[in-house]
Amino acid sequence: AKAAGRHTLRFFDPAMDVRARHKLGLLSDLGLALQRGEFVLHYQPQMELASGALLGFEALVRWQHPVRGLVSPLEFISLAEESGLIVPLGAWVMRQACLDAMHWPAHLRVAVNLSAVQFGNADVLHTLQDALQHSGLACERLELEITESTLMRDSQAALQVLHALRSQGVRVALDDFGTGYSSLSYLRSFPLDKLKIDRSFISLMDNPAGDSSAVAIVQAIIQLAQALHLETTAEGVETLAQRDTLRRIGCLQAQGYLIAKPMDALQTRSFIAGWLVAPPS
Ligand code: C2E
Ligand code: CA
Ligand code: CA
Ligand code: CA
Repeated sequence: AKAAGRHTLRFFDPAMDVRARHKLGLLSDLGLALQRGEFVLHYQPQMELASGALLGFEALVRWQHPVRGLVSPLEFISLAEESGLIVPLGAWVMRQACLDAMHWPAHLRVAVNLSAVQFGNADVLHTLQDALQHSGLACERLELEITESTLMRDSQAALQVLHALRSQGVRVALDDFGTGYSSLSYLRSFPLDKLKIDRSFISLMDNPAGDSSAVAIVQAIIQLAQALHLETTAEGVETLAQRDTLRRIGCLQAQGYLIAKPMDALQTRSFIAGWLVAPPS
C-alpha cells in the first residue's frame, strides 16, 4: 500500500511533472546545442596563497540556451553523460579551453574538468593530443580535473588511463577531494599533481554555528597532500577569514568567489591585465 501510495503521489505531484518535462526539454535541445555553438566557457582564477600570484584558471562550461538563457552545468552535465553527448562536448571544452589559454601570458595554466564517461572513453587520449596540437598550447599548461569516483570506479583501468594522459605532459588534479571514497593506498599509487579540497569543508571552516573540526579536517588533508608531494587548492573560498586560515595551515592555492566568480573569455583577459597591473593583497 505504501509503494502504491508513493506511486500515486508521484503521479500527481505537479512539481515532479514540471521537473520531468523540463529535463526532457533540455535533453532534446542538448543534442543540437553543440552544432549550434551554444556552449560557452567561463574561467575562474586560482591563486597562490603565500605569494598572491595568479596561477591560472579553471574552465567551467555553460549553455547559452536561446530561450532559457544561461544554463548551469549542474543542470545539463549529467544529462550529457547519460546521453553520451559528454564525449563530443568534453572534446569541445578541451579544445576551446586550450585555444583561450593561448591568449593569456604563458605562465598561466588552464584546468579542464573531465567526466568519468570521458575518462572511460577510448578517445580521451586522442582528444587530448588533438586539443594540444590544434591550439599549440604547451602541455604543462593544461591540467585535467577528475573526481575520486572516476578513479575508484575501476582503479586498475584508471591507473592506465592516468599514465597515458600524463605521458602527454599534462597535469592531473583530484577534484572535490574528501567527498568520495578514495582509499589512501590507491591515492598513493595514482600519478597526481594536486588535491582540490571540496568547498563543503571550506565553507564549514568559519561557520560560527560550530565545527572547529572543519579546520582540523582541512589541515589533515593538507598534511596528507604534503606527505604525497601533492599541491593543494582550496575550492569555494568566499571569505577573508577562510583565506587567512588556509594560509595559516599551509594550503598552497585558493579558488573561489573571494578572488573572482567565473568570467567569460573576454572578461578573463581584462581580469588578467588588471591583476598584472595591481595584484590584490
Ligand atoms: P566543480 O568542478 O567542483 O567546479 C566548481 C564549482 O563551484 C563551479 O560551479 C563554480 O562556479 C563554483 N564555485 C566556485 N567558487 C565558488 C564559491 O566561492 N562559492 C560557491 N558557492 N561556489 C563556487 P559551476 O560552474 O556551476 O559548475 C558545477 C559543476 O559542473 C562543476 O563543479 C563540475 O563538476 C561540472 N562542470 C562544469 N564545467 C564542466 C565541464 O566542462 N566538464 C565537465 N565534465 N563538468 C563540468
Ligand atoms: Ca572542477
Ligand atoms: Ca570541485
Ligand atoms: Ca563539485
